[in-house]
Amino acid sequence: MPGPTLHEGLEALRADRASEPAAVRAITRLASEFGTPLYVYDKATITGQFRAFRAAFAPRFSKPSVLYALKANTNGALVSLLRAEGASAEVVSLGEILAAVGAGYRGDEILFTSSSKAPEEIAKAVEIGAVVNVDSRDELEQVAAHAEAAGRKARISFRINPGVDPHTLHQINTGIAESKFGLHLEGGLARAGYKRAKELPSIRIEGVHCHIGSQITEIEGYVATARKMLSFVRELKEELSIRVSFVDLGGGLGVPYHDGEEGLTPAALASALEPLWRRFTADAGYEPELWMEPGRFFVGPAGFLVTRVNSVKETPLKVFVNVNAGSNTLLRPAMYAAHHRARVVGRTGAPEALDIAGDVCETGDILAAERLLPRPRAGDFVVFLDAGAYGFSMASTYNARPLPPEILVDGDTATLIRRRGTFDDLVRDEIRPSPAPRTKGASVGSKREAPRRRKRPSRPPGKRRGA
Ligand code: PLP
Repeated sequence: MPGPTLHEGLEALRADRASEPAAVRAITRLASEFGTPLYVYDKATITGQFRAFRAAFAPRFSKPSVLYALKANTNGALVSLLRAEGASAEVVSLGEILAAVGAGYRGDEILFTSSSKAPEEIAKAVEIGAVVNVDSRDELEQVAAHAEAAGRKARISFRINPGVDPHTLHQINTGIAESKFGLHLEGGLARAGYKRAKELPSIRIEGVHCHIGSQITEIEGYVATARKMLSFVRELKEELSIRVSFVDLGGGLGVPYHDGEEGLTPAALASALEPLWRRFTADAGYEPELWMEPGRFFVGPAGFLVTRVNSVKETPLKVFVNVNAGSNTLLRPAMYAAHHRARVVGRTGAPEALDIAGDVCETGDILAAERLLPRPRAGDFVVFLDAGAYGFSMASTYNARPLPPEILVDGDTATLIRRRGTFDDLVRDEIRPSPAPRTKGASVGSKREAPRRRKRPSRPPGKRRGA
């Protein structure tokens, strides 16, 4: 009888059954084939998350459209997978534009959002016919000039700052009045932006956009934002005779990062937005498309970071489990104090409070603090869950550690979708001067260890040796 599949092994880890043979076999097999540290993504979870999202919106809205925010994970295999499922693309840089195009996207399936776009980024977006999601009046004039020079019409929306606090972490709270993002509704700034855009012959207004933050777990922020945005869209029609073809209410749907947590479901979000949308379309007298653009929700829960234990150390205060990945591999715990569930694979001992420490030389490089887990031994595996979003995409080579590989698991098949970085990768782009001669006595060792020369008694002149 065939054993459990890799997918079933990953599911066992998620279900906190990390000591069971399915989990042990899957992780041992992946680690021996690809090494550690290793990012693993489960295809069935990505497609499942996408389909759940679409199924929540499709019956409630007549023209829903789902975009994938590539910043969550730009690996081409995942982007192609979500494109095949029907997602359009939301991107934030020239690199992400090229990643989307490389994964098969046409320009008109791409929305380009950034609060600070460089001229070459604007030019590329205009050239391929992407919607440029404009963030300021200054930028609007630049987009218009680029389009005019290229003899094209630029398709645009404005990112609106609705001034709503969805109560998420400050660093990812983007729709509050003091954030750097978007044109504020307050003070008529957004309205003035649209008025000006309408006057520019090289600009075609396509939509309105907002994104109030990431890892949002309360519905109220979305509802307050939708109210403000839909009332603004009505105002655009009534006061400026502008009809938009889409209203984008952003991404940000939170996912559970703790065992037993529920999270905000797409169904709860869609059903909260539905009555507001119905009232708006009736009052406005037309119906634009409703766009949503999650990133984390599709790929976050699908990702696993597999690490190997280098050593275990007891201090007077703590037990540290030192693993072979760190904040350079998974930044979220150090940057946001984010919680990722950790599983010790194949151990059943009594749980102890353990700190899983990274291999980066920073005190803050703790991947999981004070977790009740069975104590592992050197060589065991510790796996971090929900690492598919803002994991690899935020990874760096700090401390001269090459980037980890990425694997896509489909049932019992594991496909390498990014090779492991190498030490050559780290230095490939360096331009090295030819080694300069070393200053004598400059090294720490030579200073400390070189024996002191005794001062020789000076010889009388004429008696020098060899003279
Ligand atoms: N759209 C924009 C403009 C964003 O900045 C982000 C991420 O911050 C997203 C969508 C995706 O957010 P999330 O991954 O939380 O769904």
